[in-house]
Amino acid sequence: MKVTDHIKKANGKTLFSFEIIPPQKGRNIQELYNNIDPLMEFNPPFIDVTTSREEYVYIDKGDGLLDRKVTRMRPGTVGICAAIKHKYNVDTVPHVLCGGFTKEETEYLLVDCHYLGIHNVMALRGDAMSHQKYFECTEGGHQYAVDLVSQIQNLNTGKYLHDVMEAEHKSEFCIGVAGYPEKHMEAPSLNTDLKRLKAKVDAGADYVVTQMFFDNNKFFEFVDKAKAAGINVPIIPGIKPIAVKRHLQLLPQVFKIDLPETLINEVEKCKDNKAVREVGIEWAIKQSEELKKAGVPVLHYYSMGKSDNIKAIASQLF
Ligand code: FAD
Repeated sequence: MKVTDHIKKANGKTLFSFEIIPPQKGRNIQELYNNIDPLMEFNPPFIDVTTSREEYVYIDKGDGLLDRKVTRMRPGTVGICAAIKHKYNVDTVPHVLCGGFTKEETEYLLVDCHYLGIHNVMALRGDAMSHQKYFECTEGGHQYAVDLVSQIQNLNTGKYLHDVMEAEHKSEFCIGVAGYPEKHMEAPSLNTDLKRLKAKVDAGADYVVTQMFFDNNKFFEFVDKAKAAGINVPIIPGIKPIAVKRHLQLLPQVFKIDLPETLINEVEKCKDNKAVREVGIEWAIKQSEELKKAGVPVLHYYSMGKSDNIKAIASQLF
């Protein structure tokens, strides 16, 4: 079932969902199941599975020289989506990236999704690789998420890349896209970023999931501005509980988001990461309660591979 249909069916009730990341290659899917199992009691109608960006790895050639190869450290997104869907009877949302994929490869991936009964996808550009300053378009791929949305929307109308015959079956993807309450790091202003978001919706995006934020006012202002810009699809807030002291530096640095002073002070006072985790859970519960009261369609949690804190939060709310 489509994410938007789940929202309609809930009839104003806030739903619970979360995002997981595939295990590093060579590891077992059981790791994921161990993190998903404790969250299933909160009835998530859908679970997102991220796609890792490409990275350079350096391989020792044995003669003191290093060979450089491009690889994805956590592949298997679509396979994991199919496995989870089958095991838990829940809808899954693979994240589909522009970065590292040609348009043909994307089409094949979407055809796989269609055959596997996966009807939701998150269309994302992806970040630059760690050695790059800016995102570089893959040869034969897309530069922006909006182009990927158009490609997916084309499949929904039966238009494949190199049409050889009239498509008998159209796909019916429900398309999610990313939104940034504190603007995307490369955007010159929030208003410009909102115009880009509107373009993604105009191209066929059905709903928006936001980047993490720690001050609900930023989310509420974002939703107001998005509506004023003509964005009328559901906007789902993304929530990340702080779990370790290092997040104080890491989250603003990587995601270009602000942390409220009160939260910083609370975390700095903590003696160890066990105490930080408790602060993170409490903060996320307060955020979630307010958002739920405001009637958000879904509360979507970034698990980053750990479910114990998400369980502690969800058990207070769902
Ligand atoms: P876009 O919408 O393409 O925007 C990127 C930048 O380009 C923005 O600054 C925008 O304002 C600008 N822009 C857009 N269109 C134009 C245009 N026509 N001309 C000029 N500028 C333009 N990353 C992963 O690698 N894997 C994941 O699984 C993943 N999941 C995510 C899930 C969520 C909910 C979110 C919020 C982010 C996720 N990301 C993931 C990170 C995401 O890939 C990065 O934030 C990336 O830098 C931007 O992706 P986007 O889809 O928002 O890009």
